[in-house]
Amino acid sequence: MLFGDSPPPGLVGIAKLAARSEVLEAKRVVRYFEMESRSVLNRTRPGMPFEWSLNPYRGCEFGCRYCYARYTHEFMELRESVDFEDKIYAKSGIGPILRRELKRIGGGASIAIGTATDPYQPAERRFHRTREALEVFARRSGLTLSITTKSDLVTRDIPLLREIAKHNSVSVNMTITTLDTSLARLLEPRAPRPELRLKAVQAIAGAGIPVGVFPNPIMPLITDQPERLDRLAKAARDRGATYFGGGVLFLMPCSRKVFFPFVEKHFPHLLRRYQEKYERQAYLKGPYREMIRERIAAIRDRYGLNAGPPHREIASSADASSSADSWSEPQGVLFY
Ligand code: SF4
Repeated sequence: MLFGDSPPPGLVGIAKLAARSEVLEAKRVVRYFEMESRSVLNRTRPGMPFEWSLNPYRGCEFGCRYCYARYTHEFMELRESVDFEDKIYAKSGIGPILRRELKRIGGGASIAIGTATDPYQPAERRFHRTREALEVFARRSGLTLSITTKSDLVTRDIPLLREIAKHNSVSVNMTITTLDTSLARLLEPRAPRPELRLKAVQAIAGAGIPVGVFPNPIMPLITDQPERLDRLAKAARDRGATYFGGGVLFLMPCSRKVFFPFVEKHFPHLLRRYQEKYERQAYLKGPYREMIRERIAAIRDRYGLNAGPPHREIASSADASSSADSWSEPQGVLFY
């Protein structure tokens, strides 16, 4: 009951009934914070396919059960399970800071947007931090940009992406773990439905922006079946995606705390195997990874898909007025 066990005295009729009503469901309350930032571009480790990453938000409302970025909330002494999904931090001053940092790092840099949290999560509808960064990129040239998302909200920015693409290389990586809507709802409770993501792929491809689909992370015995991956690749190709890739699930300790109870509830028959494989290590080793690599490569061959977006050589300059470009072999994308 809303007001405790017994309704307040003196209530009659509908007021009394209301006071006696049981709580059916309590809605989540998501709180948004403005986080002061000193820098927005992060240097990546050597060996990554891009030099810099940019994540306009900390925390992510989509709440994927396997999310590895939960550890970023641990740094803030917040709970990686609930707080990561309910306390969302939007970085402040992205435009001016990014302009300053781009001047410092010079032309020709490769920047991946959305390596940790989704740049088109619901907060973006209201706070436009990703858009603010794109507006800066639209005035630059010679950059190689990629955006990774699970959201069809990215289509809002298609005109801006086209503007960016005039003088830079830009591509969109759409993450779709499965075409099965019910399974997606379990795995990624608040992310847009797979069908909406495919529609976004079609819109982006239709606008001439290179787009690929990644079934990341591939979860053993949950999303890794050849026929599931095959159907997904075909749907991606049919909607205009030109590349397709996939990496096997890895589970940091913070992700295990959420993922193991999830497996216990929805796939109890798999729990022991997941515990054996992931309890002591974040990454699976051995022949399974190789098998998935070969499976993905065979699927790519079947549908004429590449491993990554086309590589575009662009002359860089401080402003976006003079650039020449050419297209060559695709480059790999290794993250989700
Ligand atoms: S969309 Fe990405 S960042 Fe957001 S919860 Fe899912 S895996 Fe984590």
